This record gives sequence, C-alpha cells and structure tokens, in this order.
Amino acid sequence: MIVSLVRYNPNSGSLKKALDLCEGLAGLKNSDSVLIKPNLVISGPPSQKPTGMVTSATLMEELILILKENGVSDISIGDGSIQVKELGTSTDTAMDWSGMSRLAAKYDVKTIDFNRGPFKEFKVDGVKIRVTRAPLEADFLINFPVLKTHAQTRVTLGIKNLKGCLSPGSKKTFHKQDLEKFIAFLGQQIKVDLTIIDGLYGLQKGPMGKDIHPMDLIIAGRDMVSVDMVGSAVIGIDPYEVNYLRYIANSQGRSLDLSRLDVRGERIEDVAKKLIWEYPWCEELLEKYRIRGIACEDPGNHFCSGCTVTAFAGLNRFFRENQGRCFKDVEICMGRNEAHEGSEKVFLVGKCSVNANPEVDGAIAIKGCPASTKEVYEELSNYLT
Ligand code: SF4
Repeated sequence: MIVSLVRYNPNSGSLKKALDLCEGLAGLKNSDSVLIKPNLVISGPPSQKPTGMVTSATLMEELILILKENGVSDISIGDGSIQVKELGTSTDTAMDWSGMSRLAAKYDVKTIDFNRGPFKEFKVDGVKIRVTRAPLEADFLINFPVLKTHAQTRVTLGIKNLKGCLSPGSKKTFHKQDLEKFIAFLGQQIKVDLTIIDGLYGLQKGPMGKDIHPMDLIIAGRDMVSVDMVGSAVIGIDPYEVNYLRYIANSQGRSLDLSRLDVRGERIEDVAKKLIWEYPWCEELLEKYRIRGIACEDPGNHFCSGCTVTAFAGLNRFFRENQGRCFKDVEICMGRNEAHEGSEKVFLVGKCSVNANPEVDGAIAIKGCPASTKEVYEELSNYLT
C-alpha cells in the first residue's frame, strides 16, 4: 500500500506532490460528485484560532483548487460537528469558525450538515446505528482529518474522523458500547477513496484544545488504514496500540506492520515527534487551580463529546472561581464511574453517571444528556460555597 509523507511548504505545491506520490486522484472523473469530510469537531470562541483542532482552511483551499484543475465542479464539504444548544455550537458554527463557509462561498462549493441526515441504518452487534447518507452516496469521498491525539482512542485520524458521519444519537450510542469496535465497524462500512491527513500541526491531548505542535506534514493515500498507521507512527504511537486499527486488522486478516507499507517522500523516523495522548482533564484542572479535597477520575470511553464539552466548561468556571480552596471529601463522577465509599458529597454529572450510581445517598444529580454547563456550575456553587 502506498502512503505519501510530504513536508508542507506554503505555496510550493506540497499537497499536489502528496497526491501525485500516492496516485490519490487516479480514477477520478470530472463528472464525479466529490465529498470532502474534514475534521470540524466543534467550533471555538472567536478569540481562539482553529489551528490544529480542525482541518485547516489553507489546505482545504489547495484541495478545492486541485479538484477544480482536474475539471471537477460538483464539490461538497460535509461534517456533523458537536452541537450543544446551550453553548451555541453546531456544524454551521464549525463551518464558519474553521473558514469552510468562506471557502464554500468563494468557490461555489456546497456545505452539508451531516447531523441533519437523511440517514441509513446499520446494525452492529444487534445495536442500531444511523449513518448520514451523503458520504455513502458520493462518487468520490475524500476523508480530510487532522493529525491529532485522542484522550480515549489515542489517535483520531482518518478512521475515527468518520464518526462525524453518524447521527447525533448514534454518536452517543458508540460511547455506550465498545467504542473502538464500533469505530472499526464504521471504518469498514464507509468507502473512502482518498484520505489526506492535515499534519500542519499535531494536537497533543486532543481531540480538542490548544496544545498544538508544528509538524508541517501532509500524509495521504488511497488506503485509509495504511494512512492511519503512518499518521499514528508520526506522532509516536505504534499502530498496534490503537485498538480500532487492531480490530480492523483482525477482521481483514491484515498486518499493521509499517515495514510492509510503501511510504513515499519523507521517512517516518525523520519527521516523527512523540505527542502525549493521555489527558485526565478534570484532574489537571484541579491541579491547575490548586484545589484540594475534590476527587474526579477520568471517565474513560463512556463519556461522549457532548458531556466532555459541557462538563469541562462548568467545572472550569467553578474551579477557576474557587482556586486555592480546600474542600472535604467531595467527588465528581462522570460517565459510568462509580462513587467511592467515604465521599461526603457526590456530584453525578450527566444522565449516564446518574444511572450508574442509583444508590448513592444524598448525591447531587445533574441529569442532562449532555449535562448542562450552567447546572454543573450552579450545583457545585450551591453546595460548596
Ligand atoms: S449523559 Fe453525557 S455521557 Fe451520557 S450519553 Fe448523554 S452526553 Fe453522553
């Protein structure tokens, strides 16, 4: 399998070189409908640059121009971003924040909100999931993720990026099941014609945040698993450590041995940079604000993005306003974590946590799905200040 690994230099045709090296556009007809699936995980505030968290507008513009040079006129950009009404985030706001809306207007490109469907239903282990039809029906699907670590799955590259093609409800369903097995299933249902990893930056402790590291790379290929293997290795994570890659390798009887790939351009060892993927964000917030007496374990894979975003915002505000304080035996539970005996005051953040702790006397239940940022902040403030 061919994978191109190319250093990015502005205005020097790096993306074209990467596509040429891996024969990325071979077979593309100018009459084809081309759908580009970037990583537009969520929109940030205007004060925050989108750099390294979502697919860069710079590379997207280069890709659109290359497609147009190849005579393609039917081009769409689609994704299903995290939508939280309370925080005002949606696919539309992510399209705006990332610069995709501007490009769409400039080049007569359509934008599609995958969260709105229509959807096609699949079953995994007897569990129903719904996938947006647009990526299943495009003539030529280009998966265009970012070079990012992920606090739950270690990396989020091409295969994991396809999670944005799920309905909002199915995104939650994935976290209630074996997340990585379900991601592997999705990666084998959606036929991707070309995967390009935007590696201008690598995101540490992803998939959101600002911990970005310049990498100046583009990784591309026709085989998504091979591209993800190289992407993982480039940020110092052995492909065998990525469970969803292992699931796919096992089900297809294929190897994750990098030496079997035909990597063209740079050598992995010459450009690799180790990035940290683990991110116990709640514990790090407590440390940052020097707060004692509150326990908050990492919720693991059963905590979805919606709750991660809302809980983070609510807790961050409360901790910031109470920095340096010492509390007594307080515990904050998220996902399916069970409260420990001996905690004097327990807060259950989100419906999943409430369901996982039905018998905790006096627990403060913040029931939303996702939990409300306002409620998280207010309940902590009410009971602890
Ligand atoms: S309560 Fe939170 S973690 Fe549970 S399904 Fe809803 S959004 Fe996901």
